[in-house]
Amino acid sequence: MKIILAREKELARTDPLTGIHNRRYLYEFAEHQFEVAGRYQQPLAVMMFDIDHFKKINDRFGHAVGDEMLKQVTQITRAELRTADAIGRYGGEEFIVLLPMTNAAQAYSVAERIRASAADLRLPTEKGDASITLSIGIVQMRHAPQSESVEVAFRRADEAMYAAKQAGRNRIEIIAS
Ligand code: GH3
Ligand code: MG
Ligand code: MG
Repeated sequence: MKIILAREKELARTDPLTGIHNRRYLYEFAEHQFEVAGRYQQPLAVMMFDIDHFKKINDRFGHAVGDEMLKQVTQITRAELRTADAIGRYGGEEFIVLLPMTNAAQAYSVAERIRASAADLRLPTEKGDASITLSIGIVQMRHAPQSESVEVAFRRADEAMYAAKQAGRNRIEIIAS
């Protein structure tokens, strides 16, 4: 019975396509991480990324290829993360990564590895290879004058990501604290 309940809980927290945290659990998890980082005044980086022109992938190769691409992007990203880091699906083709004990500059080098390996990805299909790029925004949680909320930090990460889109996509922008 205990095992069944644990499985139910796990499913309720998981995005079925990619197997990572779903949006709801991502928020819950982030609340906890922000509380810990705030209490101990530790750095915490938030990375938000979005697949560039993803609509074109679906239009050209079909929705199933789009789905497979989302799974592969998830795997590529997870390969660059440490066990303490968390990844969640924030929206359709938008993801959030939480990096505890990590400042924005350190998060940038992680983001660069993710960006580069995503850009190198080739997914063979009947209509030729599918490839994508990512636009990535990074912020560091603010501690002063008071601990920043998850909502505000996520909004700033979204602004950073949008700036990366505006700057030409396939790039990373940091919004300094
Ligand atoms: P931009 O570079 O500005 O982000 O352009 P975009 O085309 O990626 O952005 P837009 O928001 O116009 O399109 C997002 C697309 O992502 C449209 C939607 O069909 C697709 N999408 C969202 N969730 C899924 C999914 O679970 N599977 C598949 N295959 N596609 C998805
Ligand atoms: Mg997109
Ligand atoms: Mg999007």
